[in-house]
Amino acid sequence: MIRGVIFDMDGTLTAPRIDFQAMRREMGIMAGDIVDHLKSADEQERRRLEEILHRFEEEAAVNAELQTGARELLETLRARGIKLGLLTRNSRKSVATVLAKFGLRFDAALTREDAPHKPSPEPVLRLAREWGLATADILMVGDYIHDIRSGRSAGSKTALFVNDRVPEWAHEADYAVHRLEELLNIIEELP
Ligand SMILES: [Mg+2]
Repeated sequence: MIRGVIFDMDGTLTAPRIDFQAMRREMGIMAGDIVDHLKSADEQERRRLEEILHRFEEEAAVNAELQTGARELLETLRARGIKLGLLTRNSRKSVATVLAKFGLRFDAALTREDAPHKPSPEPVLRLAREWGLATADILMVGDYIHDIRSGRSAGSKTALFVNDRVPEWAHEADYAVHRLEELLNIIEELP
């Protein structure tokens, strides 16, 4: 039975997504994981990359729109006593901007500054511990492979939110939905 749902932010609860191609061009990082680069760079390079990242994130946060059905879904889940988590690789500042903009509340919100980042299972394990839940009773929802792998390696159920086309790695997720409200059917049908 699902007792907790953890959501990715960008591209899952909110749209549009960050223009990663433009950001990567400015950073000079065309391949590899941006957050990994950031965390392993020397002090000066880290500051340069962080400035670019924060600028793109803040612009995306200010311009963010909620996905259709996001607010209703969160309210329905909360009314059912389901724990709500937000797990994002974004900065704490951009998360605060989005939550304030839409007046959203979560039982816990973890950013890249709070926990090892996705695809690590660690942030999901941490929320499960905090909530006193088995990871199997948690559903991780996201639009990117890191979301699915983070949830899956923690032992949670996973749901892929499909934005435009179904990605080739979609089979790694337990479920795939095209609309957020479809998640309610999944949650109801799970034993
Ligand atoms: Mg995302």
